[in-house]
Amino acid sequence: MEQTWNSEMTSSKLHQLRSLYRNELRKLEKVLKQKQKNKQANCEHKWVKDLSARGGRSHYDCSLCGLYR
Ligand SMILES: [Zn+2]
Repeated sequence: MEQTWNSEMTSSKLHQLRSLYRNELRKLEKVLKQKQKNKQANCEHKWVKDLSARGGRSHYDCSLCGLYR
């Protein structure tokens, strides 16, 4: 059963699938980034101290849009 699947999924088919997948992923990332940008541009930032920050320097996260400073 596994043998059949392997022989059907030739490397060129896999390559094709990967390219398709990457293209779709890129499109989605673009949309998400744009949405986040819009959100951040319209956000009245609520800064929350980022407790995971190391090195004694204080960083802040906006709890509303996720912007980092
Ligand atoms: Zn914000």
